[in-house]
Amino acid sequence: MDMKAYIYLDNAATTPLDKRVLEAMLPYLTDVFGNADSPHAVGRKAMNAVDEARDTVAALIGARKNEIYFTSGGTESDNFAVLGGARAKRKEDRTKVILSAIEHHAVLFAGETLAKEGFDVVYLPVDESGRISLERLKTAVDDNTALVGIMAVNNETGVIQPVKEAAELAHAVGALFFTDAVQAAPHMPIRVKEWNVDLLSFSAHKFYGAKGVGALYIKNGVKVDKLVGGGEQERGMRGGTLNVANIVALATAYKLAREEMSQTEEKLRKLSDLFLREISVLSGITPNGERANALASVLNLRIEGVENTALLYKMDLQGVGFAAGSACASASVKPSHVLTAMGLTEEQAKQSVRISFGKNNTEEEVVRAARQFVQTVETLRQY
Ligand SMILES: *Cc1c(COP(=O)(O)O)cnc(C)c1O
Repeated sequence: MDMKAYIYLDNAATTPLDKRVLEAMLPYLTDVFGNADSPHAVGRKAMNAVDEARDTVAALIGARKNEIYFTSGGTESDNFAVLGGARAKRKEDRTKVILSAIEHHAVLFAGETLAKEGFDVVYLPVDESGRISLERLKTAVDDNTALVGIMAVNNETGVIQPVKEAAELAHAVGALFFTDAVQAAPHMPIRVKEWNVDLLSFSAHKFYGAKGVGALYIKNGVKVDKLVGGGEQERGMRGGTLNVANIVALATAYKLAREEMSQTEEKLRKLSDLFLREISVLSGITPNGERANALASVLNLRIEGVENTALLYKMDLQGVGFAAGSACASASVKPSHVLTAMGLTEEQAKQSVRISFGKNNTEEEVVRAARQFVQTVETLRQY
């Protein structure tokens, strides 16, 4: 398969590295190889780059520099926040954790772990629009609640969650509020003060940065148990030699994403509208989740009478790649937990695909992919 000709429509799973990001990180993979914690000149040079990256990220999300912790990615940040936040809060005898039912598997895993430790973990349902109900959250929170975790944007549907309002409800009972902003970060400005969050995670490879690097914002004064111990890096909160090149990549990619956000979003809106227009000749296509309240870049579509795995397989052979549910769950044949939480039957969930556009996609690619999609769906429906 010629990867240059392949049409990649799975940008919610990961994005290609931006060339400018590669340029910025390269010196730290070669000449500036120092351990950022070494006090000598080689180490100091590496630490200067980390400091600068931390400054950049903090300024862009409205945080202080000492509120940013670099990690190995979204998964670690999510685990760090949920496990660390809940365990620290247990010291105040709080044992309840509330998570939305549509969280990423990294958060759901942390929830399962906490349940084994004796926490009462409650999963907040969503309605068919794909949003959590603030009313339900209001009833669920109490004096025993340690932590509430609601993602900013869902990775399968692109549906935006009412984070600011949810944070207010969590704080009203003295609980911590965490948001997984991994899917939000590429598409909307993160503002930790305005959103009033205690903990917030994001990951570089979703906005054209390197894979294997993320960040966790921990509000000053909020106590969190560490997850990865050992060295005294990250103010004693996350051990391990700093991945300087990746940290530089994260900051560079995030800065570019923010500077170019409005143009990028405009382009992504155009591309998804174009795709929908091109496939409108098909009947029996239903968007999952309320489009008016979702990212422009993600289309989650149910195709009546067509099994998603068959469609994916045939489209891949034609050189078009997208997803059934999320990438993390795609090895399994289980229906998406996000779609079933929204009230779809297992059969309906297995008829659903996620198409996610990126800044490198062209209109020409989108038209070609859409026409191939129409043809493939029509063929599959004939069986
Ligand atoms: C991709 C993703 C993650 C995991 O991030 P990694 O850096 O791949 O570990 C977590 N949450 C959401 C919403 C995601 O989309």
